[in-house]
Amino acid sequence: MMQRTLTIIKPDAVGKNLAGGVLDCFERAGLRIVAAKMLWLQREQAEAFYYVHKEREFFGSLCEFMSSGPCIVAVLEGEDAIKKARAIMGATDPKNAEEGTIRKQFASSVQENAVHGSDAPATAEFEIGFFFSKFEIMQTKRKN
Ligand code: ADP
Ligand code: MG
Repeated sequence: MMQRTLTIIKPDAVGKNLAGGVLDCFERAGLRIVAAKMLWLQREQAEAFYYVHKEREFFGSLCEFMSSGPCIVAVLEGEDAIKKARAIMGATDPKNAEEGTIRKQFASSVQENAVHGSDAPATAEFEIGFFFSKFEIMQTKRKN
């Protein structure tokens, strides 16, 4: 099933010049970038994006980190894109991430873990819409 998912190259990875490395992992796995932009989230935007975690003890620190520098948000498209992207990312905590995954290679801690990926179809829809209008997402079949 063709799907779209949202990824964020987080401020730690962008700051360490690892943005290309992260995108390379997705592209090598056959996922296509159909939208992308760099932005610096305001604290309030980070809180709105991660509202599902608002009761977690790490919420404040997570939102501080996510608004600490520029990130790159992108829409990836491909067969089973949501699960595929999560598999390539690896476990949330890089200590538990498998060899070859993005987080194993590039993450420095459970919080500063280089990359975000949507976890389900409804989440992907919300997260893509959070950052992109439909006109900013490329249609691969467009002819002109
Ligand atoms: P994932 O990004 O793998 O879907 P979660 O949705 O559980 O993970 O958490 C969202 C983000 O919050 C993580 O990617 C990470 O940046 C941060 N985070 C998760 N758990 C912790 C924790 N125990 N301590 C600090 N930050 C955390
Ligand atoms: Mg998550």
